Formats: sequence, structure tokens, C-alpha cells
Amino acid sequence: MSLTETDHAAPSPPVGSPVVAVLGGGQLGRMLGLAGIPLGLRFRFLDPSPEATARAVGELVVGALADEDAARRTADTATVVTYEWEGVPAGTARAVMAEHEVRPGPRALEVAQDRLAEKQTFTRLGIGVAPYAAVDGPDDLAGALAAVGLPALLKTRRGGYDGKGQQLVRDVASARAAWDALGGGALLAEGVVPFSRELSVIAARSVDGTTACYPLVENLHERGILRVSRAPAPRVPAALQAAGETIATRLLDDLDYVGVLTVELFEHGGELLANEIAPRVHNSGHWTIEGADTSQFEQHLRAVLEWPLGSTAVRGSAAMVNCIGALPDRASVLAVPGAHLHDYEKAPRSGRKVGHVTVVAPDDAALDTRIQQVRALQRDDG
Ligand code: AMP
Repeated sequence: MSLTETDHAAPSPPVGSPVVAVLGGGQLGRMLGLAGIPLGLRFRFLDPSPEATARAVGELVVGALADEDAARRTADTATVVTYEWEGVPAGTARAVMAEHEVRPGPRALEVAQDRLAEKQTFTRLGIGVAPYAAVDGPDDLAGALAAVGLPALLKTRRGGYDGKGQQLVRDVASARAAWDALGGGALLAEGVVPFSRELSVIAARSVDGTTACYPLVENLHERGILRVSRAPAPRVPAALQAAGETIATRLLDDLDYVGVLTVELFEHGGELLANEIAPRVHNSGHWTIEGADTSQFEQHLRAVLEWPLGSTAVRGSAAMVNCIGALPDRASVLAVPGAHLHDYEKAPRSGRKVGHVTVVAPDDAALDTRIQQVRALQRDDG
């Protein structure tokens, strides 16, 4: 059928295109949109900023994520409501639940928003964690540090990310100053784990309870920010992969979760300890866009729309290099074999994730070379 002029000019989505409402309009929302458009989906995002980067791939409702009316407007006519940030108030999710499917459900938000609830969930499910203790006030500091051992990390229970909201404490005498520096609210004390490396497991669960895990990812952080992820993580015996999948599956089932979930892990003494969960697509899964049979973004959409989950196999070896603060020169990146640039169209700012480069290669040795080539082009300033 040939298109008429009216078809070209039609501003609204074709009748029958499912609309996905996304709470949050950052780069994760943008990449959900980029994955969903080929599937015939349309997107509507809620974000406080009129400059939200996801506006390039859908309609944008400008409003606070705590604004329940704005959330209802975003959800209007949507087939499903999901989110791209774990800071979305659970109340907002509950407000739209009366009339819409919200996936994953708000319980995942509540667990992810409170480090103590998160650790208690891991413990209840038999998942290993660093020693931890709640600190409700300064009088609890000495006891908590005695319980977890020194050195320890004091972390705010709510609102920390990318290493923000935490203080290293080497002795009890300096604990009070660290408590003050963190703003004096409810904290969590955690023993410092002398881990050999950081890993993550990205997994999805569908409405009928089917799960699918990607191979474990190895993550390199510098100054509290993720710099490089690679998959499959090198040196992962089958038992370690199985342990990661067990952790993810226990959490997915316990939370009756629908969508993609990431668990950040420490490898220590051949064992996996869980650090935290992200109830959403995750930075350590961006390599899946070109590096896996199904990207984490498409996988999330498949899950929340009750479509079959896709293959999680890696295509050769893959990596993701974050662009922090500013983008490298585009042409230079694209000259690296197997490199794919993702520009989030965000204004450069120190410490800000403004894009990433996915690198794919036939084997680990070629991948190493390509990662180094991309990193040499970086202008990271964060
Ligand atoms: P988080 O804010 O919990 O994601 O922590 C940010 C980073 O701090 C992690 O990626 C680790 O590099 C480090 N970290 C957090 N908790 C611990 C811990 N208990 N022991 C050692 N390093 C940690």
C-alpha cells in the first residue's frame, strides 16, 4: 500500500500501537524507547526536566516523579507503566496501579530505596552480604562498628548512588564526624569487603515466572563511578555463573518481579556477595545493545508486555565504556573496529554520564585491545 500525504503528516501513533509509559526520562528511558520503536511501540515519559533526553523518542510529560496527577496523565491509555529510576516514589507507582499494570510492582522500589530493607531481603533469601548493622542515631555507632568490624563504610539508608552518600570509617573516634558528614539521618554500617572484583548479574522475569539471566558482567569502578563493563566476565567457572543466577532468581521470584533486574555483586574468596539491586535496566547492561542476542532494553519491554523473553547469549565478547563528563570525538570512536557510540545528548558536566561506547569483538584478546583504544580517546573529567 502506498502512503498518502495524510499518512506522512499523521502526528499521532497508528491506532493499535501499544503505548509504554515510563516514569523517568533519562538515558535509560531513551534507550528503552530506542529498543521499542522497532517493535511498533510508542512511549510517553514523565520527567521533571523539559530537557529530558528521552524526549527524542516519545512524548514527554514534564512533572515531578512524586506528582501523582502527572503520573496518571503519563499513564493515560498506556498498555503498561514501567520506570527507569529506582528513586520513583512507591506512592506514585501505587497511584497509577488502580487503572494500569505497573511492572515491576512497587515492592521492588521499596526494597531498592532502603539499604537496610535491601540487606534484610538478601539475608532472608540466603544470599551472602557484607556484615551490616543499622545505625539509627549516633549512640548506635560504636556498637554497629563493633558488629561489622573496621574499616567500615557508613552509608545513608536512602538516596545514595554512584558512591555518593557514603563515608569510610577507619576507627570509632572518627565515626561521629562521618555521621555528621552524611547529614545525620538513619544510616547503615557495612564492613569493607576486600573483594577481588565487582560483578553484576542482569536477569529478567516474565509474568508467568519464566526467568532469563545474562552471563555475569565484570565491572570496573573508578572514583565511585562505573567506567567499564565486560561480558562474559573473564574467569567465571560454571559454579560461579550458577551462583549469580540463583541470587537473581531468588530475588525475582520473591519480589514477584516482572521486567529486568540487576544485582550488583562482589566476588570475594570465590563467593558472591550481593551489594545492591537496581529494579530496572542498568548501566552494566548497556553492552547488550550490540553485544547480546537481545538487549536488556528489549528484554525489559518483552517482559512487561507479556511477550516471550529473548536469548541472552553474548555475541563474541562485549564491553561498555562509559563517557563521563564529555563525549570523545565521534569519528575517532567510530574508527575503532567493533565500536558503537551512544550519545545521550546531555550537556557536558563533570562526573555526568553523557554517553557510552559498546565494543564487540570476536574474542577476549581483541576486546582488550579495542577497550584500550576507546579509553585512550576518553575525555573523562569525573
Ligand atoms: P554503593 O553505593 O553501595 O553502590 O557502593 C558504591 C561502590 O562502593 C561499590 O561499587 C563498591 O566499589 C564500593 N563498596 C560499597 N560497599 C562496599 C563494601 N561493603 N565493601 C567494599 N566496597 C564497597
